[in-house]
Amino acid sequence: MNDCLFCKIIGGDIPSKKVYEDDTVFAFRDIAPQAPTHILVVPKVHIPDCNGITDENSDVVAHIFTVIPKIAAAEGLTNGYRVVSNCGSDAGQTVQHLHFHILGGKALALQMA
Ligand code: AMP
Ligand code: ZN
Repeated sequence: MNDCLFCKIIGGDIPSKKVYEDDTVFAFRDIAPQAPTHILVVPKVHIPDCNGITDENSDVVAHIFTVIPKIAAAEGLTNGYRVVSNCGSDAGQTVQHLHFHILGGKALALQMA
């Protein structure tokens, strides 16, 4: 039994506003946007967080970083955007399935911590 929220979204068991999908990657709009454009990009394979990236599965992460600029372009983020991945409780990670936030559509605050 997989209780992972993002696995359920990928599987269509929980609805989402999909913006991109291919064989290995799924992207959808964040339910609580922190910027005018706030999209989550996730691998379809369940990886808990950045600490779960290995030599065996890092190809999907490399692929995600080729997908991110395509999504940003499709969203019209011509003036830039931020990519964020929270890893663990100190970073505020709330969903234990590796994901990359795309944030843009305005000049973002520079605070990093
Ligand atoms: P993080 O805090 O980095 O783990 O990010 C998890 C993100 O998932 C947060 O920005 C939430 O707003 C978002 N989120 C939680 N539930 C959903 C959902 N059902 N659909 C879309 N985004 C969600
Ligand atoms: Zn998952």
